[in-house]
Amino acid sequence: MDIYFSTRHQVLRDHHGKPYIIITESEDITARKKAEEKLKIAAKVYQQAGEAIFVTDKYAEIISINDAFTDITGYTEQEAVGRKIGKLLNSGRHSDDFFASMWNAIEHQGHWQGEIWNKRKNGEIYPEWLTINRILNQDNETDYFVSVFSDISNLKESQRKVEFLATHDALTGLPNRSLFLDRLENSLARSRRSKNPLAVLFMDLDNFKSINDTLGHDMGDELLVSVSELLKTTIRDIDTVSRLGGDEFTVILNDCTPEEAQEVAERILDELSEPIELGNRKIFTSASIGISFYPEDSSDSTGLLKSADTAMYKAKEAGRNQFCFFHTQMREQLLSHSKLESSLREAMRNKLFRLVYQPQYSAIDGSVTGAETLLRWKDPQKGEISPAVFIPIAEKSSAIVELSSLVINMLCEQLARWLVNGIKPPIISFNMSAQCLKMEGYAQELIEVIDKYLVPHDILKIEITESSLMDSSQATVQNLQILEKSGLEISIDDFGTGYSSLIYLKQLPLSELKIDKDFVDGVGNEEDDEAICKAILSMSKALRLKVIAEGVETDQQANWLKDNGCDELQGFLFSKPLEATDFETLIK
Ligand code: C2E
Ligand code: CA
Ligand code: CA
Repeated sequence: MDIYFSTRHQVLRDHHGKPYIIITESEDITARKKAEEKLKIAAKVYQQAGEAIFVTDKYAEIISINDAFTDITGYTEQEAVGRKIGKLLNSGRHSDDFFASMWNAIEHQGHWQGEIWNKRKNGEIYPEWLTINRILNQDNETDYFVSVFSDISNLKESQRKVEFLATHDALTGLPNRSLFLDRLENSLARSRRSKNPLAVLFMDLDNFKSINDTLGHDMGDELLVSVSELLKTTIRDIDTVSRLGGDEFTVILNDCTPEEAQEVAERILDELSEPIELGNRKIFTSASIGISFYPEDSSDSTGLLKSADTAMYKAKEAGRNQFCFFHTQMREQLLSHSKLESSLREAMRNKLFRLVYQPQYSAIDGSVTGAETLLRWKDPQKGEISPAVFIPIAEKSSAIVELSSLVINMLCEQLARWLVNGIKPPIISFNMSAQCLKMEGYAQELIEVIDKYLVPHDILKIEITESSLMDSSQATVQNLQILEKSGLEISIDDFGTGYSSLIYLKQLPLSELKIDKDFVDGVGNEEDDEAICKAILSMSKALRLKVIAEGVETDQQANWLKDNGCDELQGFLFSKPLEATDFETLIK
């Protein structure tokens, strides 16, 4: 064992200056020497440690740092010493609560360990693994804090990469099925809270297999990448596109109304209709899209995905390159939403309405006796919208009044034009809404319009539904009387579906009953329907009313109706509703 001495020599001299005694004093300093060495090593370790180490006083003011601290944070010793550690590195990412619980742990357990986000001198925020130890003095008071940390951003990054690979599609980089379902769960939870609807789009390319087979898998892969890019740019940032596998893609549309979902689907189809350039080739593709909604179609993620998948198959069956809602009524509901009234009004302004004419025929000799005008709405985006959809909705607002005025004006204008051109039209009937019929003074207003166009009253017939007579007010009866007096015929539409009494009908100025299509449908196969038709026919004889049957589709129905005394027939068997010009040709 080595022993270190600290030695002092003292020389004593005589009066000639000659040394005669040497006094040697030695002290064993082995312990001190060892301690110094240890300190040197400690300092070396401290300075050269791979982990950053810093010491602060009890006020968290930095007293000393090592090189790794500078390497990681960018702050030199001069810059760091004397500063509060919390101010120097604070990333702003943690709440006050986080720090409170950290200090609480140090106070009670003497140390804290955990992950923390800090900020480097260059502003970059990074994750570190930090250990803080409290050092006490003899009096058991805090003297220092010694902290050790390492930069774990690399670790985090590789963790992230592993996670990314597990949750994303390697080819397109889009979320895969498991992440999609995960995100859908999150979106659903949000929708449940906010009560906002959510849509899922399920998209499948129409010709992917043939592209793969004819151009090869590499081309197929490139196409999928292009399609995924296109999808990413077509949807909003808050939405998720994912690839389920093969050529199947899904989209989550958060807070999405049917209108918006439709817009997105149309935009996707529109974008896909452009050729996609792969290498020096242009590839044409299209897709079929199915759309489902929370909460209407399903309340959970698998149900929503399944519904959207089913709707996608419907789109395929309907001829591909289109979208389909899972709920067939969705398209109609689309229109029933608050937007409908304004879109109806806009359609009126933009003249998107026209009238068609469905001829009516004599059951005796087959001659054309008249026609029913039926309203048509063709929207440039939504296509033809059936009056069976928009009339009932218009009836719920004042839009029906404007619409009715539009119909009578369009009809009179057409009739006037035919008359001016020497074409004598047969009796033309038009449908009158229950709402209008109930309006006081409506009959006079109507007659004023007819007279403005100089249309003779006897070529006009009004169809009012039996149900609109049910709550017949004073005004309804008055309107009917005025119209009848002025020479217009009145026909009861959809007859048999209401419950009007004979006595009541007798009091009204009617000229015709129209048997509803529902009963005509049953002629030849439903005894009940035949019985109702027979009852209507014999009742009308008693009341001396003419009878017309609508919705006649077969010879059998036509013959039966004729044999049982029906006067006139209308239906697809004879003619579908005709455009004005085609009807003109028919009557010329
Ligand atoms: P509605 O008054 O009962 O009109 C008859 C409906 O049956 C028409 O449908 C017509 O196209 C259809 N139809 C006629 N023959 C056949 C057939 O043989 N087979 C089948 N399957 N259908 C047939 P549309 O045009 O869709 O009209 C639906 C309803 O919309 C009408 O029922 C009517 O209530 C209302 N509507 C149509 N135009 C007007 C209008 O100008 N004003 C008002 N207030 N309502 C209208
Ligand atoms: Ca009708
Ligand atoms: Ca009907």
